[in-house]
Amino acid sequence: MKDILVMKEIVKKFGDGRTEVTALKGIDFTVQQGEFVSIIGPSGSGKSTFLTISGGLQNPTSGEILINGTSFSKLGDKKRADLRFKEIGFILQSSNLVPFLKVKEQFQLVNKVAKRKEDDTRRDELLESLDIKGLLDSYPRDLSGGERQRVAIARALFNEPSLILADEPTASLDTDHAYDVVKLLVKEAHEKQKATVMVTHDERMIQWSDRVYRMKDGQLLEES
Ligand code: ADP
Ligand code: MG
Repeated sequence: MKDILVMKEIVKKFGDGRTEVTALKGIDFTVQQGEFVSIIGPSGSGKSTFLTISGGLQNPTSGEILINGTSFSKLGDKKRADLRFKEIGFILQSSNLVPFLKVKEQFQLVNKVAKRKEDDTRRDELLESLDIKGLLDSYPRDLSGGERQRVAIARALFNEPSLILADEPTASLDTDHAYDVVKLLVKEAHEKQKATVMVTHDERMIQWSDRVYRMKDGQLLEES
């Protein structure tokens, strides 16, 4: 199977001198096409740092990251942004919807930036499986935190990225909707061959994972 994400000896330090924190201590990690991988670990262990670095949203202090065989560090800002937009679906803790666009316009914007035709079938299928089909004409401010989170998840999947990076995607959801989200992510990974990494501190959510890792003080260990 094809390697979608490869991380080699990733170290991340914040601050310097007495304030220096090593958030990631030399991480090697690979995710292949079609795999659903979970990372669990307590707050402050380095999970969010790991995920944002894996998607090129921040740079590591040292080490290398390859997305579909292309090294981030060798790209300029424009190509890096293009690669992120085309290949990576971020589901971050802050839902990052565009505040002045209705839900349906959030999807139109993705089509526009991607220079794609409208595809309402795929959109509606995603909204249906996340139980938010009735929200197309709403603005983000009119949605609950959990609804915003689910719209952001649908929008990330709608762009058909090869890699999906999800940081605590179930944090603001009740149990039933949390299971809907994880099952959809697993289905997308297995049926549509998306490489998916989900970070969570909720151990109930990892039961469908192909592999599970535990982050502990900046080190990543595979669970047996
Ligand atoms: P988690 O997502 O598992 O809660 P984080 O990746 O957010 O963990 O944080 C890991 C460690 O790195 C923590 O000690 C945190 O304080 C530190 N850290 C994260 N981001 C920054 C930053 N921008 N500046 C300084 N320290 C940071
Ligand atoms: Mg975090």
